[in-house]
Order: sequence, then structure tokens, then C-alpha cells
Amino acid sequence: MEKLVSLCKRRGFMFQSSEIYGGLNGFWDYGPLGVELKRNVKESWWRDMVTGHDELAVYPGAPSEYEMAGLDCTIIMHPQVWKCSGHYDLFHDFMVDCRETRKRYRHDQVRGRWVSAKGQRIFVTTMAEVAAEEEDVQRRALKFFNIRAKDADQLKWDGGFANLTSVDDFGAVLAPDAGQLGTLTEPREFNLMFKTFVGALSGEDGAAYLRPETAQGIFVNFKNVVDSTRVKLPLGIAQIGKSFRNEITPRNFTFRSREFEQMEIEFFCHPNASGDWYRYWRDRRMAWYTSLGLSGQRLRLREHDPDELSHYSTGTADIEYAFPFLPAGEFGELEGIAHRGDFDLRSHMEGKLDENSNPLQVQLGEDGKPKYRGSGKDLSYRDELTNERFVPHVIEPSTGADRATLAFLCEAYTEDEAPDDKGDMQTRVVMRLHPRLAPIKAAVLPLVKKDGMPELAKDIYRALKQRFNVFYDEKGAIGRRYRRQDEAGTPYCITVDTDSLADNTVTLRDRDTLEQIRVKVDDVVNEIQTRLH
Ligand code: ATP
Repeated sequence: MEKLVSLCKRRGFMFQSSEIYGGLNGFWDYGPLGVELKRNVKESWWRDMVTGHDELAVYPGAPSEYEMAGLDCTIIMHPQVWKCSGHYDLFHDFMVDCRETRKRYRHDQVRGRWVSAKGQRIFVTTMAEVAAEEEDVQRRALKFFNIRAKDADQLKWDGGFANLTSVDDFGAVLAPDAGQLGTLTEPREFNLMFKTFVGALSGEDGAAYLRPETAQGIFVNFKNVVDSTRVKLPLGIAQIGKSFRNEITPRNFTFRSREFEQMEIEFFCHPNASGDWYRYWRDRRMAWYTSLGLSGQRLRLREHDPDELSHYSTGTADIEYAFPFLPAGEFGELEGIAHRGDFDLRSHMEGKLDENSNPLQVQLGEDGKPKYRGSGKDLSYRDELTNERFVPHVIEPSTGADRATLAFLCEAYTEDEAPDDKGDMQTRVVMRLHPRLAPIKAAVLPLVKKDGMPELAKDIYRALKQRFNVFYDEKGAIGRRYRRQDEAGTPYCITVDTDSLADNTVTLRDRDTLEQIRVKVDDVVNEIQTRLH
């Protein structure tokens, strides 16, 4: 992971936000290569899910044909939206504060180990990355007990790493940055929504929130979309956009950030077909990741156990990826696919529903009235063929553009061997990004800066540039130029050499196989076009 992080910075995939001021934790900027990669991730999603969708076809596994539409909503919405969605009341994590260092941690993210020495048993915690946590707790335990490193066998470790959530007695806990024991407070709720104020009103009247998910914008516009277009159910409405969560401990690069982009679909269908649509979307979304190069043992689909599900949902699955910063054998969520029943639309109609009620009922306040009033608008749908009116059920495939980009980067990072200019094998770093995702599709390289080679190379570059993001490079030894493109993930290099001027052909080098073939100059654009799909 460290190698990937340093490559991302060195080659301009990603930088820490406001880095010259020391950075801002949980915020990331995408550099010149990263922005292209992330745009390609989003565009592939939008193309495959929305604009490229064939509404006349029945896709494998789908109960019928269906329609797709897009939407782009505001980040700040009416505050009532978050009350009815449940985010105002329920969207929180548990935090613990350290009284000594004044640092704050997410209760379930603090890990540590029990250790005894000098007649005392303590739980030494750490927030270090997994690869460094062993060393960190050892160093901290030695310091706490005042034992020299050469006498480390005086430390008696009791079991492996455990989560702070498994510890009841906080008096025995050495907090991640503290010198004394028992400095952590009891866990407390912390709402993850960023609060702001709209207009000149600064009190609660002007309070609003930066959206923590894009989904609600789709629910509240469902009626607008249906009324303003000729779309019929089953219908998916898709949105890509920024979301904000005031994560207590953002970490693991962009995996958990405070500002990130989501790619969400709310798929509206008849309640009777919702189970089949759930299975369709679960499998369709899994296939999307494999089609773009995530595969093998690092990607998995995990169905939630029935006891993990809310009673109104018939299924939820996570698509998970074994990110390299996680402990061996652990997976992190890439996307969630949830069957949400009619929970969301009804909440926006009638008022926030109590998710524990069965059948679902509006949650009431102490005065016996709805705790959070809904819009009062009718969000049901009338089927023109059967004349049946119903509140659609919803399947929600929800993913993060940044998490997906990070997974593609992790999967792509490879070290192998390639010959240098002298033909000797050298280790090379290559980003094996899927050609659709690669920031630069091809590089055009004149072998030397003379004999008419740059001129021909520039003509090829300009012809390609009209269709793809391509790169021209005439500086340095050819081997070094190849290496730079390998690190950027460029799938093809086109080299103009002495033969090119004689027979009007160029060399096309494949990043992954290193195979080199001769292609006619006039065929280069078509050849690249064919290979990119
Ligand atoms: P987690 O359990 O990891 O916090 P979540 O279950 O809260 O995630 P959802 O609310 O289901 O996540 O959000 C849908 C998707 O949005 C996630 O699968 C993930 O790809 C992305 N996402 C959520 N939180 C973040 C974040 N803090 N940083 C980056 N991406 C995120």
C-alpha cells in the first residue's frame, strides 16, 4: 500500500488536500492523472448503467425490460429531507475522547492488545495502519512499563489484536496517543452530517446539512421525473455527486474520506417483482466490477444474513474488496445493494417511518403527532395498463466513485520484469488499469528527436488526440519513456522509428504483454479504437 500511495503522489494521481498548509485530514485532491482516472470510472458507470442502457432488451437475469434516467440534485436540500430519511436522528457513529490528548476516535476503529508486565494487565491501543500496529503496540507497552527493548520478553501478550468495543473496563486502556491509563471517555453518539447555515439566518431556523448521500435527492424527485417524462416503471434513476460525512477518523487513503462522490441508483418497481429485481441488480453490479478488471480472490459478494436485515427488506448484499491496507483475510465495502421496500417513498409522503414497526408505521412524537412530518405529496404510481396504484418498492445499488477508483488502483499496481534499453531485465512498476479506465490511452514516442521522426509522430498524435486522451513524449531514452507510461497505466505506446519513414508503419507496444507489432500509420486510430473496447 505504501508503494501505491507514493506512486499516486509522485505521478500525480492524488494529493492530500491543502497540502502546503499541512493537509486536511479526510480530504483528497485528484491530480492530472487521477482526475482522468476518476472521470473514466464515473463515465463508465454512467454509460453502462444509464446512457448505454437498452430499454428494449431484457438483460440476462432481469424479470423484464426496464428504463433508466439520470438526475443531478443539489448538495443542500430542505432540512426536513434528513429528518424524514432518518439521518437527523440515526446517522451517527460512536466516538470516544481522550481526556489527556483531546483526540477523538471512532469507538469501533480503535484496535489493541492485552499485555501484562510488572503485575499489571493493560489494553494497549493503536491507530497505526495494520502493517505497523504490531510494532506500535510493542513500542508503547515498553514505554508504559518502562522496559528496555532488549528486555521485551518481560511483556506477556494475551491474545491477538482485538477491537476496543470488546473492552468493558476503560480504566485498563492505554489510549492511542496517551501516556497514562484510563483517559478515554465512555462512547458517545456523534452525528456524521456536516451542518451549515443558509442565508443570513444563523440560528436553528437557517440550519441545513450537506447531503451525506445522493439517494434522497432521487426519492424527493421521483414524482418530478415520472410526471415530466414518459418513463414507466420499472425505472432506475441514477445520480453521481458529492456527499459529505464528518467521519470521526478518516483513514486508509480515500477509502474513508469526509468529502467523496457517490454513484447511486434508486430502482423503482412493483412490490411483487422486487425480490427478482434485487437479485438482478446484485449480480449486474458485481459483473460491472469484473468487466473492468476487478476479479479473483480480492473481490467478493457478501449477502447479509437474514438477522442483519431490517424486516422490510428482503435482501442486502455488499460487494467487497480486499484492500491491501486491511488485515489479511478482511474485506472492505465497495458497494451496497439494498432492497429498501417502500420505506423511503412512504417516509417522504407520510412522515418518518419507525423502522422497527411491523408493518411500518409513522413514528410519533410525544404529542401523538408524526415526529417528523412528510411532504404530504402522493408519491404512489399508477400502472397505465392495469390501472393499479401502488407505492413502488426500491432496490438501491450504491457505490462510491472514490472507493471504486481506489480499488481499481490497488488491483492495477503490479511489479514485474521488462527489458531495459540494453535488453537486460529490470523490475518495472506497471499500473494494469483496464483500457477504458486508463487516464492516457496511448503515448506517441519518436525514437529520436531527428530525421523527421518527431514530425510523423506529431501527425499521429494529433490524429489520435481528436478521439482519445493521448500523450506525446520525445524526451529521454525510449526505455525510460516506456516506464513512465507503464506507471501511468497507459495501455499502448506507439513508437516512430527509422523503419517508419521507409514503410509508413509504427510499433505498437502493449503495456501488459510487452508484445510489439507493426501497424500501418493510416490504421493507428482504428487499431487503438478497437483495442480500447
Ligand atoms: P461504511 O460502512 O464503509 O462506512 P456505509 O455502509 O456507511 O459504508 P453507504 O452509506 O452504504 O456506506 O454508502 C454507499 C457507498 O458510498 C459505500 O459503499 C462507499 O463506496 C461509499 N462511501 C460511504 N462512505 C464513504 C466515505 N467516508 N468515503 C468514501 N466513500 C464512502
